[in-house]
Amino acid sequence: MSDQKPDGWVDFRAVKEAVTMRLLFEHYGLDLDKYKAIGDERKLSCPLCDGKSRSLTVNIVKQNFQCFSCKARGNVLDFVAKKEGCTIKEAAHKLAVWFKVGNTVEPHCLTPENKSPDALTILAEIKARVNQLEQLLQQKA
Ligand SMILES: [Zn+2]
Repeated sequence: MSDQKPDGWVDFRAVKEAVTMRLLFEHYGLDLDKYKAIGDERKLSCPLCDGKSRSLTVNIVKQNFQCFSCKARGNVLDFVAKKEGCTIKEAAHKLAVWFKVGNTVEPHCLTPENKSPDALTILAEIKARVNQLEQLLQQKA
């Protein structure tokens, strides 16, 4: 079964937009450009059924696939679900992890300009404010 449990919300559309058939097959060690091309389609042996030669047709523009041997067909999510023996949701989660979709750290968040005040700075400000208030109270007393 799956080695990664789906632990929350996965943006299916973001995954499908980010991960092309070409990238997906690269992940499985297959370079689609090396296979027989007919227009936008590539013909290769199906990794899902290890079927007859070139039973799998992958359309690199429409981003879908179809196997004439095992009848599997669909998009990148369908392919991973079949290949990994998991659900579509788990497939989306796997792809999000493999290709770092959605949960990547934004580099600009780490620059000093955008750094929010840290706890010590906030504490110093609170202490200064408390001192001011204490002085006011003493003056009134
Ligand atoms: Zn197949």
